[in-house]
Amino acid sequence: MTTHSLPPELEHPFFKKVQNQFEDIAEIINLDHNITTRLRYPFRSICVSIPIRLDNGQVRLFHGYRVHHNDTLGPCKGGTRYSPIVNLGEIAALAMLMTWKCALVGLPLGGSKGGIACDPNARSRNELQKITRRYTSEIINFIGPNIDSPGPDMGTNEQVMAWMLDTYSAHRGATINSVVTGKPVTVGGSQGRQDATGNGVLFTIEETAKRIGLELGEKVRVSVQGLGNVGGVSARNLQNLGCKVIAISDMSGSISNKDGFNVDHVSAHLQKYKTLENYTEGEIISKEEFFSTPTEILILAATENQLTLDLAKKLRCRIIAEGANSPTTTEADLFLEKDRPEIFVIPDILCNAGGVTVSYFEWVQGLQNFFWNELEIKERLKTIMVRAFATVYDYAKKNKFSMRTAALANGIEKVGGAMLLRGLYP
Ligand code: NAD
Repeated sequence: MTTHSLPPELEHPFFKKVQNQFEDIAEIINLDHNITTRLRYPFRSICVSIPIRLDNGQVRLFHGYRVHHNDTLGPCKGGTRYSPIVNLGEIAALAMLMTWKCALVGLPLGGSKGGIACDPNARSRNELQKITRRYTSEIINFIGPNIDSPGPDMGTNEQVMAWMLDTYSAHRGATINSVVTGKPVTVGGSQGRQDATGNGVLFTIEETAKRIGLELGEKVRVSVQGLGNVGGVSARNLQNLGCKVIAISDMSGSISNKDGFNVDHVSAHLQKYKTLENYTEGEIISKEEFFSTPTEILILAATENQLTLDLAKKLRCRIIAEGANSPTTTEADLFLEKDRPEIFVIPDILCNAGGVTVSYFEWVQGLQNFFWNELEIKERLKTIMVRAFATVYDYAKKNKFSMRTAALANGIEKVGGAMLLRGLYP
């Protein structure tokens, strides 16, 4: 538990949550005390102001962040989030999770995250481009293939990454492909990056299903919270295996259809109207009804702290796949571990690691200027995800840990061990 006060700029419940999580694991694995002290905080946090002339002629200031948590294992890697509630504490929390995630799946990368407090749906394309370019130029000395390479996250996409690449390259006087990942394939992106996180979610669900004796097919019902990149691809993947996606929830509300939705149809509707409210092929339900819908698989692919203790008590599922980062509150997590051990939780840093894994492939391909085909990407991703799943599963069984404790312990041990070897400068 935290026995020291946080610097006020990191005073945020989400940062405290992941910091407490880290400290608990550090105690469990007897992490060297000096290493614990160093890993409690990010080693570098950047706050920038982004002044933009809006389409209406007014100048507006946006706030942006980039946080490097730890780079012991290699250059930092982490997504870029555009959302009205982005702040330094949230970005620092996500950066810390990235450190454990990269280490867990065995990537030679450290953990970082960035973001801008802005609502991308409320900004025109022109404004978003200006915001992205000015942000990139403000953090330009703290990103680069050997320093930190941003990727996409909630509220950003391939286009945003292409603008970041272009701005960075214009400043450096040459195209530097590996400065960002998640780019469009035509400008140095990797095959398979768009679907990578959702594909990784599927691989971890398949591994879970094998362990608990669940056959993925028409008898399997699925509910998904968040039908964006991660949730949309994960749900479509399960639908392709014959499973029925019977409940969907997002920012605009929740809907159900006991015969199963056509996921592509719902996604296309959301692209067009940005809301589920007027979707006619399902019935509108409450958030509580969504979480209490009986299903075999619940995919959490929206944002942090969505599954609260109250909602956890209503769950009627066998597998929770955490596609989002930290979607379960600490209280809900403790409850599930103690009172609902029959529910198999695939923890976030394992479940959604497919995204950063293919971002790593993109970074490597860009550095070599040698690109792999989609099949190679998918096979390499599967190998890494299946191996990481088995490592966590066996570690959990051996030590009688939950899957979350095992995943975090494994990642933290690797980072801690490397820090001890490298020592402390000066
Ligand atoms: P996205 O912007 O494409 O989609 C987000 C979805 O979540 C949308 O459907 C949105 O309506 C819904 N949502 C957001 N806030 C919500 C709320 N409070 N209640 C209900 N629904 C809400 O984002 P994404 O890229 O799919 O990311 C989703 C999650 O997965 C995030 O936690 C992100 O950090 C994590 N993640 C993303 C990637 C990636 O490659 N994109 C990789 C790893 C982890």
